Amino acid sequence: MTRPPIRVGLDIGGTKVLAVAVDGAGGVLAGVRLASESGPDRVVRVATTAVTELALRLGVERSALGGVGVGVPGLVDAANGMLSHAVNLGVGSDGLALAERLQASTGLPVSVENDVNAAAFGAYRGMALDGRDIAYLSIGTGLAAGLVLDGRLRRGARGTAGEIGHVSIEPEGPLCGCGQRGCLEALVSGSAIARAWPGTAAALFRAASAGDVTAARVRRQVARHLAVAVRLLVLTVDVDVVVLGGGVAELGQPLREAVSGALRRQAEGSAFLASLDLSARVDVVPAGRPVAAIGAALLAPDQGRQ
Ligand SMILES: [Zn+2]
Repeated sequence: MTRPPIRVGLDIGGTKVLAVAVDGAGGVLAGVRLASESGPDRVVRVATTAVTELALRLGVERSALGGVGVGVPGLVDAANGMLSHAVNLGVGSDGLALAERLQASTGLPVSVENDVNAAAFGAYRGMALDGRDIAYLSIGTGLAAGLVLDGRLRRGARGTAGEIGHVSIEPEGPLCGCGQRGCLEALVSGSAIARAWPGTAAALFRAASAGDVTAARVRRQVARHLAVAVRLLVLTVDVDVVVLGGGVAELGQPLREAVSGALRRQAEGSAFLASLDLSARVDVVPAGRPVAAIGAALLAPDQGRQ
């Protein structure tokens, strides 16, 4: 008898751990949300608890689940499931053998992926983009992109494909955490937007729409910088679609419209840019869709096939 391939995806962030169980088509069967804890042992413990609670929620034994996929911020070696430099999780350069430890604690096969890559795959499979080349632009605490080309994640030779947050576009711009000046991340990540406008991105957009001159200027700047990121991604890999995701993208369609508008304005003086039709190639993750957890689940090893 073949067991239905229910796989588990964990999106481990600095504040919360989101776990979902998905069917073979990527449909979400159940979800669990827990508070994150910092430090290698606690990260493993909370992740284990999330898997156990998910099994309870589904009314099955933990061993009846298929594989577990984890999406996590930081430097990930997807080949061996090692995590390092995950500052928000209290994991330093010593690293954490996350796949190995979670495999031991749950008895299930585990794979680990960078959270932006996992989200890119979740958006690809969950937003009816199958068969198209996509970039997923995560606008959260930082700014980074994940690439799905020919139906597969493109991690790059050293795992840094898509790290466009550290492309400097203003040599005299603000200092970035990476040591350079004027990086896209220093100009238009969630943290950078919060520095330019105290309060949420949603409040910024509301104030701009209500006629606040400063808010309107900041919103234009945000759109202009995100448009640079979109242009960079399309001109580098010619993806069909750039999906906006991450905390700031919870703004939804107003964010997509602002970025598309900036792309249209930038194309006004360039027949070349106009021919690329960039403004029509931007999309945004639907509200509340946990693409990182879903993508992690879809990337998980399938116990039944091992
Ligand atoms: Zn930087």
